[in-house]
Amino acid sequence: MSKRTALVTGASRGIGKACAQTLASAGHRVILAARSVERLEETASLIRDAGGEAFVTAIDLASHGSIASNVSTAAKEFGRIDILVNNAGITKDGLAVRMKPEDWRSVLETNLSGSFFAIQQVLPGMMRERWGRIVNISSVVGEMGNAGQANYAASKAGLIGLTKSLAREIGSRNITVNAVSPGFIETDMTRDMSADLRQKMIDQTPLKRMGTPEDVAAAVRFLASDEASFITGHVLEVNGGIYM
Ligand code: NAP
Repeated sequence: MSKRTALVTGASRGIGKACAQTLASAGHRVILAARSVERLEETASLIRDAGGEAFVTAIDLASHGSIASNVSTAAKEFGRIDILVNNAGITKDGLAVRMKPEDWRSVLETNLSGSFFAIQQVLPGMMRERWGRIVNISSVVGEMGNAGQANYAASKAGLIGLTKSLAREIGSRNITVNAVSPGFIETDMTRDMSADLRQKMIDQTPLKRMGTPEDVAAAVRFLASDEASFITGHVLEVNGGIYM
């Protein structure tokens, strides 16, 4: 397997951190992006201690300027980015009738627009090389909807439309674009769920547990690999069967 350069957004904790560690252990050089450099450095240290190669870059996915300057700088520094994992994401839940415009916009901007603008930065290099892997982290909520998460569900459903459109647009350049759609995964994002809701989710999940960040990272590693070279426009559900 050849050594490639992967950019993972939201790599400071949770699913992104596990994706970065898993891609590094698969032999790739990883660039870790998020807003908090301190937390990214912790992930980078873990990767280096395990013998991997990791670099850190501060990027605010809610800002086009931050994405444009930092992703293109990283791409230049490393020659190109071969693998992009669009994982950074936020929630700002609330009932639609009372949702503030800024809560709608910030979730769409970070989760959907941020992913698209990051893709725009890495595409020219991938097209030149005629090799690329883009993996967008969607959500089961984007597929089935969830009361109180209209903004988040719209952003995650949007990522699926983006994935499929791009897969059609750039397949001829040997670039695959896929989505991974996690169910309920143990991270900071789900930590504040009530015990009742957590149990309800587990009861509805055929595999009777929440997922781990590593469960998701394994799917990302596969889609980013040479072995997945004939898979594009696919939504790989890592959800314990809660939605099928
Ligand atoms: P998390 O623990 O809350 O981590 C979110 C990551 O995104 C952090 O590294 C955070 O770093 C980064 N981030 C947030 N806003 C950012 C911004 N504006 N610019 C750059 N980075 C930003 O979340 P997670 O549970 O690991 O979720 C990761 C992805 O999986 C998200 O897209 C989420 O929607 C999706 N997902 C999660 C679940 C779940 O059950 N946990 C289920 C389905 C899908 P900084 O705060 O330092 O920027």
